[in-house]
Amino acid sequence: MTSSGVQDYCDWCMGPLTEAARARSSWLGLPLEFAWACSDCLDAGRYRLPPDGWEGSAEDWLASDQYVLGVDDVTVIVNALNEVLHGPEAVEDWEFETRLGVTRAAALETLRRLNSNSSGGFFAGMV
Ligand SMILES: [Zn+2]
Repeated sequence: MTSSGVQDYCDWCMGPLTEAARARSSWLGLPLEFAWACSDCLDAGRYRLPPDGWEGSAEDWLASDQYVLGVDDVTVIVNALNEVLHGPEAVEDWEFETRLGVTRAAALETLRRLNSNSSGGFFAGMV
């Protein structure tokens, strides 16, 4: 712990946390279990199993069914969304929800969230 009371170490390897790792841990909801993972443990998927000292069963661990997207994954999604929303062959409003399964507004919101979090580099979604 730092003097400010903010945890600054990884609950899996005890290594230091970067701001990017803190952002990714938050995205995964790890702080809900008072856990934080460093970039190495996030990349290796160690967060999918509860850290030592976690009280509860492995089945109850919230992050076990999360998938972490890499930078390349996010780039593909952002580019694909840009194409269907703004590209020369953009999907028209009248057929957008039928073809994409979400409204144009929802797709724009997804694109906005991905772009605003792209500095963190990674995102979570259900597998
Ligand atoms: Zn770690």
